[in-house]
Amino acid sequence: MAKLYIVPTPIGNLEDITLRAIRILKECDLILAEDTRNSIHLLKHLQIEKPLKSYHQHNEHKILQEIIELIQQGKNIALVSDAGTPAISDPGFLLVRECIAAGIDVETLPGPTAFVPALVNSGFPCDNFVFIGFLPVKKGRSTKLKSLLEETKTIILYESPYRLVKALEELKATLGDERRASVSRELSKFFEETKRGTLQELITYFSLKTVKGEIVIVVEGLNRKQKHESETTEA
Ligand code: SAM
Repeated sequence: MAKLYIVPTPIGNLEDITLRAIRILKECDLILAEDTRNSIHLLKHLQIEKPLKSYHQHNEHKILQEIIELIQQGKNIALVSDAGTPAISDPGFLLVRECIAAGIDVETLPGPTAFVPALVNSGFPCDNFVFIGFLPVKKGRSTKLKSLLEETKTIILYESPYRLVKALEELKATLGDERRASVSRELSKFFEETKRGTLQELITYFSLKTVKGEIVIVVEGLNRKQKHESETTEA
């Protein structure tokens, strides 16, 4: 029976694609791509020629049924996004959900995604974390930030370089100057950098430069023991 394959692609370094991802892209009947122009570059690099179809946030509802019918007719379909794992802050969730509902096998390949290396590299606990993705740009942003106030798990956010300092300022206003965080920039690329410190230290560091590239912010969760100790000492 044909399947839907979710195929992660590199987040920067082209060496990060897996052998299985390459094989699935070679063997499938059709590749759904968030931006076909981007994916053509990768496929050329891998010497893969396959029919491509756009699948992005503006057409995903419209072409959903068509894709499901193609798989039901026996076509193996692979979904890729511009970078990393589809459905992680990228289109894909809807298709996965509806394929499952239609009784179609979905196979997600392990592979590149930005938040895992950023989390591990932060040095904060990796056993319990919450992935926020992008904060809402306007409506709902402060509600989302406030929801992090009592969060004891490590918090992971995606942010644009243009809003990094603003986001760190907002996190500081919500979680306090001394909360520790880690900013990973350009993971797997030539200018890869991870900067760790308190939110205030990170604001000072990134305010002094023009921030470029792709960013993951990891924030240490609320330390309940320390909070309890400081409250007891104050009393
Ligand atoms: N699907 C992707 C994944 O699995 O991580 C995420 C796609 S989302 C549209 C793009 C965001 O992911 C960027 O704005 C940045 O926050 C993060 N990101 C992607 N590549 C990155 C990299 N090389 N270094 C740091 N962050 C990255």
